[in-house]
Amino acid sequence: MVNKKQQILRINKLIIFLLIFSFCGGGSETSETVEEAQDTTTTTEAQDTTTTTEAQDTSTFGSWANVKGPPMIYAASDVSQSTIDKTLKWYQIASSAWGEFGPAEIWIVGNSKETVSDLEDLWCDIRTEKDTKWNKEWDCANEYWSPFARYVDDGGAAVSTYYRDYIDYHFFLVTMGPKYPSPDEDDYKVVTMHEYFHIYQHAHISNIDDEGPSSAIRDEKMGGADKPWFAEGGAEYMAQLLYSRQPNVRSNYLKEIMDRKAYSIGEYLDYGKPLKDLIYSDPVQTYDIGTWLVAYIVDKVGEETFRVNFYRDLDGLGFEESFKKHFGMGSDQLISEFDEWIKQPVDELLKIIP
Ligand SMILES: [Zn+2]
Repeated sequence: MVNKKQQILRINKLIIFLLIFSFCGGGSETSETVEEAQDTTTTTEAQDTTTTTEAQDTSTFGSWANVKGPPMIYAASDVSQSTIDKTLKWYQIASSAWGEFGPAEIWIVGNSKETVSDLEDLWCDIRTEKDTKWNKEWDCANEYWSPFARYVDDGGAAVSTYYRDYIDYHFFLVTMGPKYPSPDEDDYKVVTMHEYFHIYQHAHISNIDDEGPSSAIRDEKMGGADKPWFAEGGAEYMAQLLYSRQPNVRSNYLKEIMDRKAYSIGEYLDYGKPLKDLIYSDPVQTYDIGTWLVAYIVDKVGEETFRVNFYRDLDGLGFEESFKKHFGMGSDQLISEFDEWIKQPVDELLKIIP
C-alpha cells in the first residue's frame, strides 16, 4: 500500500514532469464536438521491425543514448493510416535534417474517449513489457492521471522525457493530439517537426549531477522551468525554417508565418515582463516572441552556430556559458538588444527572414 502522502508526491512528480512540454503546438481556444466513439479495439502501428534499444548512460550527450532507428508508433484505433504515415514522414524529415535521437515512441491520440481508454491499456502493456520496474499502479492510467485523455479535447502535441531514477527503460514520448492542428492541416507537419526539435534539445542535455538525476538541471539547460522563450522559440523557428525549405512549399512561406507571429510583438512590449521571465500562462504569445528571438540569433550567428554548436556545448558549459560562447554575449544583454530591435516596423524585421 502507498500512503496518501506518497500518492500525492507521486502524482505531483508526474504532473510536474508532464507540464514541461504540455503546451506545444496546440491550444483549446475553440470547442469542438468530439466524434462518435469507435467500437474497435486499439491497433498498434509499429512502422518498422527495428525496435529501439535501451538507453545507455555512456552516451555522448550525458543521460541519453544516441540511438539510431525509426521511432515506434502507436495509434488509437480511430486514427487513420494516412495520419500515421504523415506523422512518421515529417518526424523523419526532421530527424534526417537534425540527426536521429532516441529511443522515441510516438503515440497518436484519437477523437474518442473510448479509443483513448484502449490506448491507455496498450500504454500499460507496452510499458510493463519494456520495463520490469514500471509501476502499474501509478504510471499506467488511473483515476488521477492519464497520459492521453486530455488530448481528446485539448488537442496539441507534446514531448516528455522519461529519464527517471525509478524506471529502467528511458525514452522520449511524443504525444500527438487529434486537433489543434488537425492532421489535415499543414501545421500538423510543422508541429511534428517542432516536437522532434524538443527531442533534439533534450538529447543534448543530461540531468544528472553528483546528487543524481534532477529535473531542475534539465530545466535550467532548456532556458528555465516553465519558461518557454528559448526552448519553444528554438523548436518553432527550426521547424518553420525546415518546413519552408521543403519541396512545394511557397517561397514566401516563412515570411508569412513570421509576419503573423509579429502580431504578438505589441502585446509583449506593452506587458513589459522580461522575455526570460514569461511563463506559459502569461497572457503573451511567448512562443511567437521566442521564435522571433531565435530568428534574430540565427541571423546574427548563423543557423549552424545556433543549432549545432550551442547545443554541442550546452551540457558541458551550462546554458549561459554556451550562450555567451556562441551568441557573443549573455542572454540578458542579447535580449535587451533584441527588445530594441523588435520595436522597428515589421517590414524591417522581415528582412532577416529567408
Ligand atoms: Zn514545443
